[in-house]
Formats: sequence, C-alpha cells, structure tokens
Amino acid sequence: MPQEIRVRIAPSPSGNLHIGTARTALFNYLFAKKHHGKFILRIEDTDMERSDNEYIKNIFDSLKALGLAWDEGPDVGGEYGPYSQSERFDIYPKYAQILIEKGYAYECFCTPEELDAERIFSQEKKIAHVYSGKCKNLTENEKEELRKQGIKPAIRFAVEAKNLIFDDLVKGELKFDTSLIGDFVIMKSNGSPTYNFAVVVDDILMKISHILRGEDHISNTPKQILIYEALGANIPEFGHLGMILAPDRSKLSKRHGATGVSEFVEKGYLIDALVNFVALLGWSPSDGVEIKTVDEIAQDFRIREVSSSNSIFEYDKLNWMNAQYIKKLSTEELKQKLLPFLGQYDLSELSENKFTRMVEVTREPLVILSDITDAVSYFFGESVEIEPEVQSEVLDKDVSQVVLKEVQELAKNWNFDDEDALHHTLEELRTSLKERSIKPKETMWAIRAAVTGRVKGADICAVLAILGKEKVLKRLNG
Ligand code: GLU
Repeated sequence: MPQEIRVRIAPSPSGNLHIGTARTALFNYLFAKKHHGKFILRIEDTDMERSDNEYIKNIFDSLKALGLAWDEGPDVGGEYGPYSQSERFDIYPKYAQILIEKGYAYECFCTPEELDAERIFSQEKKIAHVYSGKCKNLTENEKEELRKQGIKPAIRFAVEAKNLIFDDLVKGELKFDTSLIGDFVIMKSNGSPTYNFAVVVDDILMKISHILRGEDHISNTPKQILIYEALGANIPEFGHLGMILAPDRSKLSKRHGATGVSEFVEKGYLIDALVNFVALLGWSPSDGVEIKTVDEIAQDFRIREVSSSNSIFEYDKLNWMNAQYIKKLSTEELKQKLLPFLGQYDLSELSENKFTRMVEVTREPLVILSDITDAVSYFFGESVEIEPEVQSEVLDKDVSQVVLKEVQELAKNWNFDDEDALHHTLEELRTSLKERSIKPKETMWAIRAAVTGRVKGADICAVLAILGKEKVLKRLNG
C-alpha cells in the first residue's frame, strides 16, 4: 500500500444521491477508515447543463445524513482544492498542452458532420468504430488554415495500440486491447475537458491512491491509465464494484421503489439500517453477523473480498433490517424519529405520558417509520373513521349492538386513568356477557371496532386509557 491512502467519491450532480453512489461512497469511506486514510468529496460538475445546485445540496445532505463525513471537499476545503470541477477549469488546458508537447495528444479539427460520416461508414461496413486519426498528421500550415476558417479544434489523445493489463482490486486481472479505443477527445472544442481527462488530472493533483467505483466505469479505466502514463504520473489502484440491480435483475429504477437516499429517509428508513444494508451489497461480514455498525464494518472490511458480481437490492431484506433497527431504539429515541411522520395530527391532544404510551403500544409492527402515520390515526380526533368492513362485519351485528349498549352505560364509571383497573373491568365484562352467551372475543371486537374503527390494533386497555373517558364515550355513542 502507498504511504497515504487517499480515496474519493466524485459524484456528478445530475440527480439526487442515488443509493448506488451511496454504496460507492460507503465503500470508499470504509476503505479509508480501515487504512487510516483520507476520504475526499469532489463534485464533478463540468457538465453545466446537467448539473444543478439543488442536486449538489442533496448530495451533501445525503452523505452527511449517512454519516460519511469527508476529510476534504468543496465545503470543508483541503490542501488540494478547489474540490468542484467547475472551479478548476483553468487547470485542464495546461495538462492538455503538456500532452500535445510530448506528442501524446493532437488538435482535431473534424466537424460533427465529418465525424458522423466516419461513424456511418463503420456502421455500414459493420466494423467497430474508432476515430480514423486523420487530424493526427496535419501540418502546422494545414492547422493554421483550418483555424483561419474559424474552426476551433478539440484535443484528442493519441492512443498507442497495445495490450493493457491491470490488477483490479475487485475484479482481478483485466486486459484491454487499446487499438479498439481509438484516439479519444480530452478537451472539447469549446475548451471544456471531457470526463476521462478531468478525472485523471484531478485524481493526480489530489493525490488519489485508490479509485473504487462502479463497474460501469471499467471501459473508461484503460483510457485513464493511458493518460496517467503519458503524464508520467503514479497510477492509482482501481477497484470496480459490481452494479446494484433490482430484484428482477434490471437496472434499479424508480419503478422498483425508492432509489435516492433522501427518498428512503423520507419514507422512514433509519440511516443506520440503510447504511448497514448498503454495506451488505457486495460485502459479507466474516462472522456472518449482518447487523453491524459502520465502525464494526470498517474493521472487517477488505476490498479484495468484495464480491465482483452484481448485487440485488432486496427491498424485503431492507425492510426486515429496518424493523430490527427500529426495535433497538429506546422509546424516547423512537418518539423523536417518529415526529416527522405525525405532522398531520394535533399532538397536543395527548399528554407527554400518553404520547409515550401510544408509541410503546404501537411500535411492535413498525417496519418503516412512516407506518406510524396509519397505525395511530385512531388516537386523534373526537370521532373515528370506521372501515366499511368493520361496520358490516362487526358493528352491524346484533351481538355487537348488545355489547355496546351495555358498555355505553358501564363505561361512564370506568377508571380510565389506570390500565390495570381497565384490564379487570374488561375481564369482568367479558365474564358477565359470556353468561349471556356472548363470546369474549365478540365483546372485545365490538368495543375495539366502535372505539378505533378497526378490528386490530394496539392493546385495547392502553387504547382506552390513552383516549380517555370523554373520547371513548363519544365514540361508543357515535
Ligand atoms: N462523475 C463520475 C460519476 O458520477 C465519477 C466517476 C469516477 O469515480 O471516476 O460517475
């Protein structure tokens, strides 16, 4: 390993932080943590048309929410800044010039029409298309002439045909025939660098030692290695992570569910669960215990053991894991986390104690935090919405009418401040109604249905105590 481990995540702000980029960020962060290195954030916003400040903010916020603090970046600065590519525009032409002077790059005056014609020719001949290299040998006079015609040149890298082999940290040995690449553009005619060029210049200047990124970048890597070689720079180690696919093995997209980190958070996934789950997309704990903190994962993380194949994003597994993390929260912690999902209710209807009790008795089935919204709806408001089946299947039954008539009178004298007392009271009620051939569960169904509008829910004594006498009587008489 080189002296200083420096890794980076280099998102392009053309959308909210995708869960796949979050995984790449996490693996870089884990690698840096494991090797006491630095984790750097660079925003690749050279493509101004596709970049958006709103997305930059989302990237910052999402990475922060995930707890992936960066040591250097656009906001925190660092020795090798600026860390936004758009602020580095004056750097790239210098390096392109060096490559031209060393004979590794040349000006290309081909117009889009000429390039299209070349492409169509290859298509018709059914041969793999590579740029013909026709501008490579232009004389100074010819170039001058073209310049006079107002044609602004792009700069192309002159690819030397050879077998390029590198040892990928994840995929193992990878081989490329560079003759299939063709001379590629490093600076566009408008003066802006292409991704492959800017990324190498930045990674060299930022002293990046290891590049861990998605395997969708594998085809870029030989081009980038050629540029490193031409600039006489140290070549970092590369590790290409398999892709994250949806359960149907297609590309993970909105139609499968949430894909942006912020969307998962809005839906009520806990950050710790999300990070833990994302770490398992390609990495397996050596002791087989899947629920782990980031620090524990970092201790155990070995990049060479990361799976080289694609990972399936199992929403069911994420849900399971989220439910486990919810169970681990104290009621106080959970109350705080649930607040954003209770905005539609008037929480002042409940005392602090009753609010706590409501969370205690409704938390068990929660899979995601937003499940609470529906789970507690019947605790709020004077009246309650009765589900149609509950009306027809329970409340309209004669037996329920008998139970409720009885309870309407008795409940006036019940002690709603004491759940234990309510427990005894209901016990007595069931026994006395049983003597009139009413089954205990019929008694309970009728009460629950009238008071909550549902047939299932939290412990009924707790529900009655939280609602209090006034609301319960209203609902029983409703
Ligand atoms: N901006 C590139 C992306 O978002 C970064 C690729 C790289 O890590 O080199 O995919």
